[in-house]
Amino acid sequence: VCPVGALHEADHTWKLVKDIANPKKKVIVQVAPAVRVALGEEFGLEPGTDVTGKMVTALKKLGFDQVFDTNWAADLTIMEEASELIDRVTRKLGGDEDVKLPILTSCCPAWVKFFEHNYPDFLDVPSSAKSPQQMFGAVAKGIWAKEEGIAREDLVCVSIMPCLAKKYEASRDEFKVDGTPDVDYSVSTRELAALLKQANIDLKRLDEDKFDNPLGASTGAADIFGRTGGVIEAATRTAYEWITKESLESVDFEDLRGMEGIRVAEVSIPGLDEKLGSKFRIGIAHGLGAARELMDKLRAGEETLHAIEIMACKGGCIGGGGQPYHHGDFGIIRKRFEGLQNIDNNKEIRKSHENKYIQELYEKHLGKPMSHEAHHLLHTKYFPKHKI
Ligand code: SF4
Repeated sequence: VCPVGALHEADHTWKLVKDIANPKKKVIVQVAPAVRVALGEEFGLEPGTDVTGKMVTALKKLGFDQVFDTNWAADLTIMEEASELIDRVTRKLGGDEDVKLPILTSCCPAWVKFFEHNYPDFLDVPSSAKSPQQMFGAVAKGIWAKEEGIAREDLVCVSIMPCLAKKYEASRDEFKVDGTPDVDYSVSTRELAALLKQANIDLKRLDEDKFDNPLGASTGAADIFGRTGGVIEAATRTAYEWITKESLESVDFEDLRGMEGIRVAEVSIPGLDEKLGSKFRIGIAHGLGAARELMDKLRAGEETLHAIEIMACKGGCIGGGGQPYHHGDFGIIRKRFEGLQNIDNNKEIRKSHENKYIQELYEKHLGKPMSHEAHHLLHTKYFPKHKI
């Protein structure tokens, strides 16, 4: 049972089958980064095997009208989160007492619900940027559908997630417009595998296909969202270049990687180190026990950090509750970790701000990160809840 009640075990696969069969509905899908290195396990492939291309083919065979990538929205999340990080640090250094540091990542809905219940005094600390799942839904229904001439009520936006808490996130009221959700429902990796088997689609035997665009192109920074330390590493790649106005020699921040439950790493950012009086200090926790330990240290003033990434599942989303069961075998999580890292290593572009489709979105619709338009579409609020 989920300790914060964030998990909704609702299985929407039957609803999905009915929507796909309905000729009046346009059904689109986004797929989270961690799914592509775990789905193959359900078809006899090794953990960590990258099945991205086969998965796209499988989703098209199932009948989705467009197959998009949550990774695209992960790059968008970094544009907003890195901007917010720089904004907060700059204002803090300028003496603004209202600004809170560290800034926390907020992509994980189980973690969000956990701090709403247990750390109401920290509600202004997490980034207000929506998660990639919700940014995708907001752009798909708020911009893409309009450009395509699709009425909101005719568009069904589905997500394939490694996560059961994403079902809950999609249903939160702040992610609805006129009572209808931006993401209609979320299907887990295991549920997708079961659906493919029912449809006699053998993933292993499929040819590879590519995601549709414009909501399908992504950089390596987006792939690592699926493993612990990845979101903050992706944000650091972008923030570093924006602060220093120089190109990174290496985008691999090895100190941010690892599997320890709590990690603290220092990143040197020329120009910022002197102003901070120290290097940029980043904390990472995965698993809610580790998260609580780190947060309690912050609350007690025993730790000073500038940014933190917290993921509720051990290993991050690769170890999510909707993934193929790993039965406590951490070797499987490590292989999925390596699988995502290989995808990142082999991507031509590995920094979110260099995604040309994201650049186009800002040019055509949003202006710049944290603009009024971006805030309206891509940011959210958090609410205090009873202690559990
Ligand atoms: Fe979901 Fe776990 Fe990832 Fe959080 S860490 S988003 S609960 S899969």
